[in-house]
Amino acid sequence: MAETIFSKIIKKEIPADILYEDDEALAFRDINAQAPVHFLVIPKKPIPKLSDAEPEDQSLLGHLLLVANTVAKQEGLTDFRLNVNNGAGASQTVFHLHVHVLGGRPFSWPPG
Ligand code: AMP
Repeated sequence: MAETIFSKIIKKEIPADILYEDDEALAFRDINAQAPVHFLVIPKKPIPKLSDAEPEDQSLLGHLLLVANTVAKQEGLTDFRLNVNNGAGASQTVFHLHVHVLGGRPFSWPPG
């Protein structure tokens, strides 16, 4: 997989406001926040997008959701929205799988 800005964040080659880290995952604040709280949860494994995930990634994908929940609580959120953009047509711009977690304001449905 091609090097992305997120792989540089994992390797600490560029700075990020890191909220959580373990052997498999990293959570850091989005540099262009779309809500009072907006962070990203990424696997350290370089999966470009969700549709590239394999059955062997099942527990890793579940772990990302649990990390999202842990950090949302840490940030004082009770209501929050998770978003995964899969592919350029769905507004994915960084091709390293990431879960957006947004909170601290109301969200409407359906999303744009
Ligand atoms: P997506 O459009 O789903 O691929 O989202 C990529 C997200 O990464 C965007 O919300 C960007 O603001 C965010 N982003 C890009 N570069 C950085 C960075 N260096 N640190 C934190 N967030 C970033």
